[in-house]
Amino acid sequence: MKIPQISIVAPLYNESESFPLLVERINALMDSSPLAIEVVLIDDGSKDDTATRIRQLALTDDRYHGVLLSRNHGHQLALTAGMARARGTEALFVIDGDLQDPPELLPEFYKLYKEGNDVVYAVRKKRKEGAVKRMGYYVFYRLLRSISYVEIPLDSGDFALISRRVVDVMNKMPEESRYLRGMRSWIGFKQTGFEYERDARVAGESKYSFKQLFALAYNGIFNFSEFPIKFMSRTGIFAILIALVYFFIVVAKKLFFAHVIEGFTSLLFVIILFSGVQLLALGIIGEYVLRIFFQSKGRPLYIVKDEIVNCEYI
Ligand code: UDP
Ligand code: MG
Repeated sequence: MKIPQISIVAPLYNESESFPLLVERINALMDSSPLAIEVVLIDDGSKDDTATRIRQLALTDDRYHGVLLSRNHGHQLALTAGMARARGTEALFVIDGDLQDPPELLPEFYKLYKEGNDVVYAVRKKRKEGAVKRMGYYVFYRLLRSISYVEIPLDSGDFALISRRVVDVMNKMPEESRYLRGMRSWIGFKQTGFEYERDARVAGESKYSFKQLFALAYNGIFNFSEFPIKFMSRTGIFAILIALVYFFIVVAKKLFFAHVIEGFTSLLFVIILFSGVQLLALGIIGEYVLRIFFQSKGRPLYIVKDEIVNCEYI
């Protein structure tokens, strides 16, 4: 095989059911494309036979490059592992392994890349998912956009064609809680969106648990926004001002109407209010401290158990 220009990178977690179709569609794409393409398939510690299938495929077809992780590390880290190992010299085409992101769009993305865009990210026109999930995504992306210091495009996920030089920067970013689409935007260069309709899964259920989805949203907000902590300090200042005003009113009342008795209710109200403000502030500072804590550990981000790769051009 020639040195690949493009690497298709797809993380897979328990995707045995859709695997044959994924390979079939990617093969068809490769056969019809003039580009030299390699396919990096990452097994994210699947419990079904996804890893075995990847291994067999990579051993028999040198266009496939298998990366098997030691356990389930989560989608973002599986992608990180794949991106670090992909050798495409021009760009990486990052897709989901469940065929929600049609691989056939590669030529159109590549055209935009050739026109000088370092990142061509997919923007979802329509989602074929449940109403609650759609609503959640809709609100989250708009909230993140309004508070983030990076311009993270609306309704776009990790599905993108990313140039080699942007990938190299992403690979060098050591941050532990990874929000790849944010990192991608943060890097800059010329980036453009490509609208597409997100397909439904071809098989199985979403492998993202609600917990993982929330963790991803959290990483987006806390890694790419200072708003929560700024909001707290502003609220703190506002609360102090209110307290001062309150204090002067009480003093004035005492001075001019000597017999006014101040009730316990108001006192209690103020105490509770301020305890709440303090607790919330501590919680938010804790979020940042937690991130510093994990980062300072300097752990490897993932552990590769095995790697199956054609060695001709290493
Ligand atoms: N995935 C993964 N590790 C995980 C969860 C998901 O590698 O812990 C993969 C999954 O196999 C799929 C992609 O990441 O190829 C996107 O996941 P999923 O389809 O579950 O997310 P959704 O499309 O529902 O957002
Ligand atoms: Mg999916």
